[in-house]
Amino acid sequence: MKRVIIIGGGAAGLGAAYKIRRATEAGHDVDCLVIEKNDRVGGKLASDIVPDPDGGEYVIDGGSDAFVSSKPAIGRIARMLGIAEDMVPACEENKKTLIVKGKRLVELPDGFMMFAPTKLIPLATTPLYSWPAKFRMAADWFLPRKVHWAPGETAQDHDETLEHFVVRRMGRESLDRLAEPLVGGVHASDPSQMSLAATFPNFLEMEQEFGSLIRGFLAERKKREEMRKKYPPKPGAKPWAFFNTFYRGMQQLTDGMADAVGRERIMTGVQVISVKRDGLTWRLELDTGEVLDADALIVATEAWAATRLMREVDDSLADLLASIPCSSSATVPMAFRAEDCPFDTKWFGILSPLVENRPLLAVTLSSSKWPDRAPDGRVLLRGFIGGPANQHLLEATDDELIETVRLQIVELLGMRPDAQPVFASVYHWVGGMPQYTLGHLDRVDEIERLTQGIPGLGLAGGAFRGVGVPNCIESGERAVTKVLADLGMAYDEDTAPPAPTH
Ligand SMILES: Cc1cc2nc3c(=O)[nH]c(=O)nc-3n(C[C@H](O)[C@H](O)[C@H](O)COP(=O)(O)OP(=O)(O)OC[C@H]3O[C@@H](n4cnc5c(N)ncnc54)[C@H](O)[C@@H]3O)c2cc1C
Repeated sequence: MKRVIIIGGGAAGLGAAYKIRRATEAGHDVDCLVIEKNDRVGGKLASDIVPDPDGGEYVIDGGSDAFVSSKPAIGRIARMLGIAEDMVPACEENKKTLIVKGKRLVELPDGFMMFAPTKLIPLATTPLYSWPAKFRMAADWFLPRKVHWAPGETAQDHDETLEHFVVRRMGRESLDRLAEPLVGGVHASDPSQMSLAATFPNFLEMEQEFGSLIRGFLAERKKREEMRKKYPPKPGAKPWAFFNTFYRGMQQLTDGMADAVGRERIMTGVQVISVKRDGLTWRLELDTGEVLDADALIVATEAWAATRLMREVDDSLADLLASIPCSSSATVPMAFRAEDCPFDTKWFGILSPLVENRPLLAVTLSSSKWPDRAPDGRVLLRGFIGGPANQHLLEATDDELIETVRLQIVELLGMRPDAQPVFASVYHWVGGMPQYTLGHLDRVDEIERLTQGIPGLGLAGGAFRGVGVPNCIESGERAVTKVLADLGMAYDEDTAPPAPTH
């Protein structure tokens, strides 16, 4: 029996392991072992159930707290695992985004699709932008394309940073007030470095197809409305939102995959410290001193960890992996008594633009965004700190980070200044967010070309073709197809049981 070792037990590593289990069940002579250095599997999917001193409990997501329904991988896996019923849509009735401007919070105006206005009156009346900025944004309608792509060219051939693109099409204020916190903030990325081709190629494509972002988004909205009319939800069907999660938090997904793989095939609390190739055998040294051999290897770690592991395997590959930078961040979930929070709680989140110079990227109001996240009478929030411009803030102690977020909530939302959290914790994500900088896709092409030439090696994870959890799972599955082919096994199912009709 061939053995595949997978280093890293996050979404990508478990997505890979689960696919190998399916291959085994389909009759292939292969088995797998996952090695994860943390004590629990899930990587950036880290959910905790925390009791409230007065009864009830909180469902906390310290890392990823949502998946988008437009990417099918999670629904497919959840159906295979039998946990599709536990997928939970966000509470659409509270869907509202607030943006910090000075000491106040301004609601994201109606009709905005991402950072592009598609309705005139909300744009005219919003206090988010100055009048010159509003005219400048509207000019996107008339501005010519920067270049016309030659036939067969794609966004990758015309990569541009988020900053360059937005300032060129809609002006500096559009970037500073919304595009930076909304698009850059989500990736915890610096807009002056962030590759659009690798993150939002659709913006570049829209400019090509429609000559304008506003016209592109209007066309997209029209298409969505037509689809909704053509395929109305079936009566009694489970409603879906753009953002979704799992009833017991996102880790339910990785725990489900780990259970299906078999916990006996997963080592936790053990770090791989070196990888060598000995002919067709992969030899792994663990921090326990143990040495393990495998017929194939999938490295599903952060890029910086993969760099170290690949150094003795292929220097050029390690150098390319090292060229994918990362930024650190921390999330700070905290709960307050409702009586201490005399503010409107019908919103999902607050975005804090960098130009506001606050020690905070965003706040999620978890108890309003998701059902059953906190006991009645409690307000559960989650502060997000870090990103490339604010790495120094992460040197603070946990108590200081909690106090930083608490003070921001007092100042921005009018919470009682002496209100203390009923519960608070800090999740650190050191080097946790890969940065897709200009030219990222070219580097990934080269990484894949080099990996293709190394029999029995697969690379997977959020560092390559999408940081979203569904992308990570799919990257793990692609790595399995590659290494099984190297082992002489043609296995590529990617078929899911049909979606439930209820
Ligand atoms: C705060 C935060 C919020 C996010 N929110 C969302 C969201 O809402 N929606 C979304 O889709 N995405 C979100 N993301 C992104 C997404 O969660 C990640 O991109 C994804 O989970 C990464 O999965 P992965 O398997 O590639 O890597 P990871 O989850 O990082 O897993 C890699 C694993 O490898 C292990 N490892 C590393 N080196 C070794 C070694 N030498 N030996 C053994 N094990 C090792 C690590 O301990 C880690 O567990 C968020 C990310 C962060 C940090």
